[in-house]
Amino acid sequence: MKWTLADLERFAGLFRGRSDAFGVLQAGRICAVRGELSLVQYRLHLEGRLRLGLYPLLPDGHTHFLALDFDGPEAERAADEVFERASQHGLTLCREISKSRGVHLWMFFSAPVPARDVRMVALMLLAEAHVKTEVFPKQDVLPADGVGNFIWLPLSGESVPMGKTVFVDPISHRPYADQWDFLHRIPAVHPRELTALIRQVPVSRTRPVPAGTDGHAHVYHGDLLPCAQAMMRGVSQGCRDVVAFRLAVHLKARGLSRERAEHILRRWDAKRNQPPLGLSTIREKVRSVYQRNYTSYGCEDPLILPFCREGCPIRRCSADAGGRRSDDEPAQRG
Ligand code: SF4
Repeated sequence: MKWTLADLERFAGLFRGRSDAFGVLQAGRICAVRGELSLVQYRLHLEGRLRLGLYPLLPDGHTHFLALDFDGPEAERAADEVFERASQHGLTLCREISKSRGVHLWMFFSAPVPARDVRMVALMLLAEAHVKTEVFPKQDVLPADGVGNFIWLPLSGESVPMGKTVFVDPISHRPYADQWDFLHRIPAVHPRELTALIRQVPVSRTRPVPAGTDGHAHVYHGDLLPCAQAMMRGVSQGCRDVVAFRLAVHLKARGLSRERAEHILRRWDAKRNQPPLGLSTIREKVRSVYQRNYTSYGCEDPLILPFCREGCPIRRCSADAGGRRSDDEPAQRG
């Protein structure tokens, strides 16, 4: 994996812990080192010549990031659940395949935030997802005599060729072809967003996101086009049938298998739609899209238009080409 100085600086900027201590792997054990990490050490980590980890909890009780560590046979499912909950709250979590083939979910902040607030939000997400797992930082404040808990850095040079410690698409679970492009695109959560979320928790737990609105500017659903991201938040009766069909087209276009697309849409339907379409309808939509050569996203369908967003590359292409005709409209409206 090649990188530029800008990539290296981005990596060091994202993965920041205590400035006076870090950890390295020595003789199979974590060895705490006193001192500040340098770009040289980050580079050695990326090259696989040194394995680095961080102590995320800063001496003043703040942190630059949140990390959730999922292990065991339920790791994938549990991480999916938490990712979905975070998306509903407008939070971006980045998914990494850990060295042990578990899952790490990372969230980055634009400025250090109190670990207490971060942990409160993390525990709220876990509670909503009915999941238990390790949260980093593990404490709100440091014990008087300690450096806190430790987490390994991703993109470890020796593990990347084996598909481990790499970031993956949260829907397809496939590694991003260009890890650096992904790292440069990660949006940081502003401390104000965290504070606002903590204030809203009791409300947001009981109030569904209105269909077709863009209330969560930072919701992240992999690389789905903007309308699909909006539709994945759930839709109301009257357009569920059409939206399920178009979402299947989006997922197929992204190279997902029929089984994976059906899995995603079944979860979407059960969790986001009021009322759900039901298993047999979802199965039929996916079957229809995957058996035939449907390619249109329905950009001109009046039921899809409310989800359309400025800046979509398809929209630009369509304008250049003088408009795009939907040639495979599903007949039902449900
Ligand atoms: S132009 Fe089409 S594909 Fe793009 S956001 Fe709008 S409806 Fe979706």
